[in-house]
Amino acid sequence: MWKKIRILILLSVLLVVAVNAWRDQNQNWDLPVLVLLHPVNADGQTTTEQYIRQLNIENFKDSQNFLAETSAAYRGKKVDFIYQLGRELPQIPPKVPENATALQAIVWSLKFRYYAWKQHQSSDGRPTVTLYLNYYDPQQTSALKHSTALEKGKIGSVNLFASTAQAAQNEVVVTHELLHTFGATDKYDLATGQPIYPLGYTQPEQQPLYPQRQAEIMGGYIALSATQNKMPDSLTQVGLNKATAIEVGWLK
Ligand SMILES: [Zn+2]
Repeated sequence: MWKKIRILILLSVLLVVAVNAWRDQNQNWDLPVLVLLHPVNADGQTTTEQYIRQLNIENFKDSQNFLAETSAAYRGKKVDFIYQLGRELPQIPPKVPENATALQAIVWSLKFRYYAWKQHQSSDGRPTVTLYLNYYDPQQTSALKHSTALEKGKIGSVNLFASTAQAAQNEVVVTHELLHTFGATDKYDLATGQPIYPLGYTQPEQQPLYPQRQAEIMGGYIALSATQNKMPDSLTQVGLNKATAIEVGWLK
């Protein structure tokens, strides 16, 4: 019985997904983009809770400015990104299955959309994008699982460190996931983290090619050599190239 109900719920979510799919696809960049950020205490630690309590919207200013500036560079006019820090949510989004089959990935994306629908309250308004920021205490968790975002539904599950020292790097991750919701694709090798040449570079014509000084936002990492890379410390070490600008619709 319960299983049937669950299948029914998933099917009805699928229907809503299908009906709304067309609407989400092309963003009108002349309109303001409202980004709602919901923190989640993902590891249940008191330290994580303390970190979440002191969070404020200033912690995301660099991300907001990065997107305003890069959009202006391609469009000649900046996109008005408005970030809002929403309620802390008691429940973590469904975990992304690892090495998922296509079917598992579809089921997960439906569960995630169902989670988003369940969490939404009318007081949250009508955000363009909703990101769930899952915070982990770096003393307890040394490596974070991959974050994921859906273009259809405009939601993202973003894994971050609950630490002031990591705040600038968190903004890189938030920006990357936000751009996924507008159709930007990954430009790094998922197995090694190495940015893909030339798509994942901001200076593919630089001589000598290595080391690159910047990461491309969807390339994720700074290529130090053909096989070595490092994570940028902050958005000051990140650019957004033409390939990404075309994907999100800032460049024709
Ligand atoms: Zn990605």
